[in-house]
Amino acid sequence: MPTLDMLLGAGLSLLFLVVLFRPLEWAYPAKPGQRFFRREWFIDLCFFLGQYLLWGGLVFALLIHFADRLDGLMPAGFRAAVAAQPWWLQAIEAVFLSDLCVYWGHRLQHKVGFLWRFHSIHHSSEHLDWLAAHREHPVDTVYTMGLINLPAFVLGFPLETLAGLIAFRGLWAIYIHSNVRLNTGPLRVLFGAPELHHWHHDRDREAGNYANISPLMDVLFGTYRCPDHEPERLGIHEPIARGYLGQMLHPFVFWKRGARPDPDGAPEPVRLPEPAQA
Ligand SMILES: [Zn+2]
Ligand SMILES: [Zn+2]
Repeated sequence: MPTLDMLLGAGLSLLFLVVLFRPLEWAYPAKPGQRFFRREWFIDLCFFLGQYLLWGGLVFALLIHFADRLDGLMPAGFRAAVAAQPWWLQAIEAVFLSDLCVYWGHRLQHKVGFLWRFHSIHHSSEHLDWLAAHREHPVDTVYTMGLINLPAFVLGFPLETLAGLIAFRGLWAIYIHSNVRLNTGPLRVLFGAPELHHWHHDRDREAGNYANISPLMDVLFGTYRCPDHEPERLGIHEPIARGYLGQMLHPFVFWKRGARPDPDGAPEPVRLPEPAQA
């Protein structure tokens, strides 16, 4: 049961995010005219509250459990050498390793039908803003958080290094979903930007931009896309429930029916965005 502290934490976080992102969305909108209370705002609020009040603690406990099981996989001497490096070098290495793991893990989420059943919930948003970032099935969250953190943990990066990065990644993930378009020029290729992730949410299931923070992996592996306009249609091709509970059950319902929503790619011919432009 959610405690009073958890409710207070969720309320304060919601307020913090509104104060942080709403002025940006108002002053520099990627899609001008999109209302604050746009369609499906309430579903995304349910996902936000679900994360804070129900799933967040469970996901964290599972990660700790897996981390404990994997502890000792690497020789102690190697782990000590990793931890002895300067903090800035650790941070760069941890980000690079996490980006590499999450990039390929994310591509698999789009390729493998079983993983897509869960990941398609995140892609079902037809409007993007800071709140839509929270639409994610908890199974999908465990998968992504595991890919981001466990390899770095196994190699011996101390929790202090990882904790700061986890907090930054969380906030950055919300920013890249926000309805914001800032002209950050070449910095976009280094740190990512909402326009890149908005293209990832294009209806084309293989629209590119799989990286979590820095798009360098996309540049490296040829999946970087940056047209000079916003995608016209966001979301997914297959039908999906338009309620919180329905979306939470969606991956299992398809399973039960034995139906595969979209096994190998988008079900109809799709148009790729224009080639990469930095
Ligand atoms: Zn995706
Ligand atoms: Zn997203």
